[in-house]
Amino acid sequence: MKRRLEPGRLVIASHNKGKIPEIAALLGPYGMDIVSAGELDVPEPEETGTSFAANAELKARFSADLTGLPALADDSGLCVEALDGDPGIFSARWAGSGKDFGRAMELVERNLAAKGPEAGRDAHFVCALSLCWPDGHIVTVEGRVDGHLVWPPRGDKGFGYDPVFQPWHHDITFGEMDPDRKHAMSHRADAFRKLVAAVF
Ligand code: IMP
Repeated sequence: MKRRLEPGRLVIASHNKGKIPEIAALLGPYGMDIVSAGELDVPEPEETGTSFAANAELKARFSADLTGLPALADDSGLCVEALDGDPGIFSARWAGSGKDFGRAMELVERNLAAKGPEAGRDAHFVCALSLCWPDGHIVTVEGRVDGHLVWPPRGDKGFGYDPVFQPWHHDITFGEMDPDRKHAMSHRADAFRKLVAAVF
């Protein structure tokens, strides 16, 4: 049976400051009062899952257990079909401790080149969202956006792998796209639409 999320406090199990206002804007209309895990001194658990969904679930469960409040967590990344889904759940880690995404994009390109000229350039972004209630009930949804990789990188409007990702039916990369336009079609938007349908 569908469990509704009642208006009230909701913990965002993310220490990424950029995500909090974005999520607050998305869920504010549903009466949610957003508080970040950082504000409640909830530490970040180790991401030991082997899928986006597993990592989102373990982060949501961890925050819900520690705070006694419903908690929402996300996990996202870029999957390249010819690389068997890499960098996938390791998307952030491919950039190293210096968060150097120029390096991460080069690594993707080098690995694709090593596959030879026949390797396709199809790729997709995934975003898993998990909402965990304090009693352990959990709802997880997954969004995605499909496209292909370009080289060299283009645009400086986004973050992460945006400059090499060109969504299907567009001739510009996410890095060249106005943020509002990207946010309307992104894997995160797709996941939030599914979450809203599932719990509101
Ligand atoms: P996390 O979900 O915060 O662990 O981030 C995963 C990583 O995936 C990010 O550091 C980015 O490198 C990549 N990523 C996730 N979503 C996007 C996006 O919309 N554009 C570009 N890169 C993304």
